[in-house]
Amino acid sequence: MTPALVRQRTLASRLWSHAVDAVFPPRCVSCRSFGRFVCHDCLAQMVRAEHPRCGVCWQPIADRRCQQCRRQQPAFTAVRSVYAFGGPARDLIHALKYSGVSAVAPLMGEEMAGLLLRWAPDVSTIVPVPMAGSRQRRRGYNQSDLLAREIGRFTGIRVAGRALVRRPGPSQVEQPDEAARRANVGDAFAAGREPVGGGVLLVDDVLTTGATLDACARVLKSEGADRVYGLTFARESRKALPNSG
Ligand SMILES: [Zn+2]
Ligand SMILES: [Zn+2]
Repeated sequence: MTPALVRQRTLASRLWSHAVDAVFPPRCVSCRSFGRFVCHDCLAQMVRAEHPRCGVCWQPIADRRCQQCRRQQPAFTAVRSVYAFGGPARDLIHALKYSGVSAVAPLMGEEMAGLLLRWAPDVSTIVPVPMAGSRQRRRGYNQSDLLAREIGRFTGIRVAGRALVRRPGPSQVEQPDEAARRANVGDAFAAGREPVGGGVLLVDDVLTTGATLDACARVLKSEGADRVYGLTFARESRKALPNSG
């Protein structure tokens, strides 16, 4: 696209979003008050996913590295998340994922970009975690792809939206426990049409067990990535499991 066309499109989309706001003014995704997608009160309730956490998988833990990562280093080097999953942070993800409120993606992406710039892992490409084509067609978009594009826009890092593809199969959300999630996602991903190399940042909305990022990172490394990092908007705390730290 030429710069003039980009400007035209940007202007058109801005006018369109003003028109949409006039008819459907933004409401807080959590308390439903009018004015913003997340009101000041709800924003204040969101809990940042900060230290002390496992330096690899970002699980809240007193140790530098959790037992699970000590036993087996995932295919990714490290992952970071902006918020602990819950409250308004969960409501934002649900609005984006299940209610079709794609307009929350810029504010989520901006927070993720801010964390990425502070963290500063050595990455030159951003890859969104893909969803199966049929599911994406139903929803109209892949939420991770929207977040990746926003992060790319804020940081100037290239986004490779077609580096990975997801094979059709049961959703991760339907899996009862961590073992089932790992088994379900094990061969769910394959290399897509866009080649990758060097440092790659995987982007997803929420991190639950890390199984999805691990599976994606394995494919990316087999396709030429030297190192893979992960960034998600929120981090669920791992439930206490037998044999896990
Ligand atoms: Zn609110
Ligand atoms: Zn860990």
